[in-house]
Amino acid sequence: MTCLKPESHLPRDGGTFNAAADMQPRAPAPTPAPARNGGRVRAANQPAEGVYLPNNNFQTPAMRSPDYVQMSTAAAITLGVMPGQMHRCGCTRCLNLLLTYPEGCRANCAYCGLARHREADRDYADRNFIRVDWPAVPMAQVIDIVAGQGDATPFHRMCISMITHPNSDEDTVSVLKAWTRRIDPSSLPVSILSNPTTMTRADVKILHELGADIFTVALDAATPELFDRTRGKGVQSPHSWAKYWEILKDAREIFGRQKFGAHIIVGMGETEYEVLSLVQRIVDLGGHSHMFCFFPERGSLMDHLPATPRDQWRRVQLARYLIDYRGMRVEQMRFDEEGRVSDFGLPKNELDDVIAKGVAFRTSGCPGKFAEDISACDRPYGDSPPSNIASYPFPPNKTDIGKIRTQLGMARRPGVQ
Ligand code: SF4
Repeated sequence: MTCLKPESHLPRDGGTFNAAADMQPRAPAPTPAPARNGGRVRAANQPAEGVYLPNNNFQTPAMRSPDYVQMSTAAAITLGVMPGQMHRCGCTRCLNLLLTYPEGCRANCAYCGLARHREADRDYADRNFIRVDWPAVPMAQVIDIVAGQGDATPFHRMCISMITHPNSDEDTVSVLKAWTRRIDPSSLPVSILSNPTTMTRADVKILHELGADIFTVALDAATPELFDRTRGKGVQSPHSWAKYWEILKDAREIFGRQKFGAHIIVGMGETEYEVLSLVQRIVDLGGHSHMFCFFPERGSLMDHLPATPRDQWRRVQLARYLIDYRGMRVEQMRFDEEGRVSDFGLPKNELDDVIAKGVAFRTSGCPGKFAEDISACDRPYGDSPPSNIASYPFPPNKTDIGKIRTQLGMARRPGVQ
């Protein structure tokens, strides 16, 4: 097994960007009645035994949180429940756990491999998500392994990712309680990637009281219009921008400064100015943004659309880092008539220095044990193929930085450092 997949969707490059008019999701097709709500899996009711690797070509077992969770291929390799290796990475530092049910996620987000419309052709536990398969593992086995590793665990953080399901709130609490009974959250902090649609302020409070460290809200879309198009009414999905902001603000009050954040996907039709204004808004509230480069996930309602051009992505990635960690403000930056960053607002030598350090181009997310601006959650190849890396899950080397400079249109002349 490997975290690498053959790729056909490579981004365009060169002064371009994914404009709103071009980024229209296709409409979801109706699902045959027997496949709805995990119908195939529930009808077969095949009991699960141990670790389930997706797409094993036998009846997908009926696995259900809190007894079972799914985890990324990278996390499963690092945990040792699945053989394999990752391109240029020894391991991942975040054990990201995903709640799982035969009925799957009841939302229909256009860019997501877990979306409801996929029940027509793929059982929930067999769906790809952020470009990789997600093996399912008994929660008790996960806890046994990590508790047994003690201080030697390779993980710097654990994350519980909720999905849109009626049991998601109470099962997140059960998973967190089971974890903290054996593993001290002050030595291995826990993040919650929430599902605001089913949550109340009281749910946020309980998770904080149980020891969760950081609470994040996956806004994903950068504007209310794109949110509605990709995760709301536009694709028969239940989410609303207002509800997501309500829970984000609850998290700010309950978890406090630097302990909440938002996920944002770049390149779904917003301008660079719009997404960076959102980044600024979150920083002004006291939080951080965790950024993903749009990649047309196989089987999703946006799988026919282009990945984010690398120059657009690099400009936003760099500007976001400056706003999140270098005290720059969006008002100090300049934008062209298409909303693209034309000036980062820093003297050239200082900007060069930030680029050379490379941290701005690493995967963004909740911090691990290396530094505040280095994410534990490195999501190897979650938003790009290894042949054209968007978020570096490791420190970019000199060659990588040279490639990044070229993508930014800031290549150095030979012999000039
Ligand atoms: S709520 Fe999350 S898991 Fe469900 S379809 Fe939307 S992005 Fe995917």
